[in-house]
Amino acid sequence: MINITNLHKSFDDLHVLRGIDLNIEQGKVVVLIGPSGSGKTTFLRCLNLLELPTNGKIIIDNQEVSFEKNLPKQKITSFRSLTGMVFQSYNLFPHKTALENVMEGPVIVKGVPKQKAKERAVSLLQKVGLGDKVNFYPFQLSGGQQQRVGIARAMAMDPKVMLFDEPTSALDPELVGDVLKAMKDLAKEGMTMVVVTHEMRFAREVADEVIFMDQGVIMERGTPEEIFQKPKEERTRRFLNMIQ
Ligand code: ADP
Repeated sequence: MINITNLHKSFDDLHVLRGIDLNIEQGKVVVLIGPSGSGKTTFLRCLNLLELPTNGKIIIDNQEVSFEKNLPKQKITSFRSLTGMVFQSYNLFPHKTALENVMEGPVIVKGVPKQKAKERAVSLLQKVGLGDKVNFYPFQLSGGQQQRVGIARAMAMDPKVMLFDEPTSALDPELVGDVLKAMKDLAKEGMTMVVVTHEMRFAREVADEVIFMDQGVIMERGTPEEIFQKPKEERTRRFLNMIQ
């Protein structure tokens, strides 16, 4: 589903991603861990072209982009629609209800008829446990509920891959569980997911593969057991000792 070759990203003199190669099969859940500043967010943002890589190649669902030349805007937009992104801050439209927030993309961007978009939005909101909150505005929802609207909103665009950038790190601890449950349900349905998170329990329980990034490269990758129980690299061990 995802095939990344020699991906590089620099911000001026700062060489943040230093040659990432990665294949992710359809339906797999990959969790990215690593120290702050190692390039996890930048990597995720490169996958949906919120940041344009400086070099390398990305293929998602057989669509390819490479970065030696300037990319046309249209190509960026169509490539971006392959992925749905869930951010740390949920950025819902404050003057729209949960339902309207979820319908907005399909209706405005894809031209889906309103009634059809509404039915789908209701069903997505039910799936993330918000069937009774469809007509609530963001200010009437907890952070965890808003984040689940964010997940439903991303899903409404029918992405091939879901990207999560620390989706629970802005939440009070008691609100984290429901968001992780919504993500687990998505994983069970076979959604391909790339998740940056500090939730090691989620990684243990849900990830097919854990990737440890450090200083812009993949230092080590493996199953949760391999990474958490017998990491090969000293730097992985040090990182895990620090956070656990
Ligand atoms: P992580 O998610 O692992 O904490 P980031 O991808 O957020 O790491 O950041 C990696 C490095 O890239 C950091 O040094 C950060 O300051 C830098 N960086 C990220 N975004 C930008 C940007 N838009 N402009 C300049 N530097 C950036």
